[in-house]
Amino acid sequence: MKIRVLGCSGGIGGALRTTSFLVDDDILVDAGTGVGDLSLESLARIDHIFVSHSHLDHVTSIPFLVDTVCWMRATPIVVYGTKETLDILRAHLFNWKIWPDFTQIPDAQRPSMTYREIRVGEVVELGGRRITAIPANHTVPAVGYALDNGRASLIFTGDTGPHEALWRIVNATPNLKYLIIETAFSNAEREIAAASKHLCPQMLAEELEKMRVHPEVYITHLKPGEGALTMKEVTQAAGRWRPRMLENNQEFSL
Ligand SMILES: [Zn+2]
Ligand SMILES: [Zn+2]
Repeated sequence: MKIRVLGCSGGIGGALRTTSFLVDDDILVDAGTGVGDLSLESLARIDHIFVSHSHLDHVTSIPFLVDTVCWMRATPIVVYGTKETLDILRAHLFNWKIWPDFTQIPDAQRPSMTYREIRVGEVVELGGRRITAIPANHTVPAVGYALDNGRASLIFTGDTGPHEALWRIVNATPNLKYLIIETAFSNAEREIAAASKHLCPQMLAEELEKMRVHPEVYITHLKPGEGALTMKEVTQAAGRWRPRMLENNQEFSL
């Protein structure tokens, strides 16, 4: 199982891309602006998209992807998410006003895209690759994802503030090799982080304090222009977990 970072920034500008991961060549976890860097051939190979939550920085490429490749594919692209998240996508994105409803294109019998509801804790198995939605605490209904091939796991927290349920899952994952966790704001913005249900470096350290397993820790969703400051504060507050900044195009193998 190969996991490639297509985007890991809280915003855009220059080389920055918003959140997306490519798993092997057929699965996306979130679909931020980085998806647009893939070739047309690579885009056409994507069969599954797992959505952490409905915020635009995590879903913005789904409409363009489906529209771009639907004529090249024989089967629909499957969009996975919780009922709450999929209801938001139906009502506010693929609603014929912002973008056409591709579950009805070219017609309901041959859709370009389908939705598949998943619940927190539910495992989706795709060719030996197990993908599980895990709890998150954000301003809209949200999950993270655990990716597991039986030998090793990677957990992506999605966008989340402090959340006990997340750490119960992390601590129950003995083969956890990589933890990708957000730190969207600097310490000076702790109140904004709390209000928007993200983390700042001090909060990250308070959260990592609850961790009983020993993965490599990578920080994602840094705010453009504040990456260096935030990572300095992350090192000061949480240095004993040796957190590193997640880099675009970085690859992980499980
Ligand atoms: Zn969000
Ligand atoms: Zn986000």
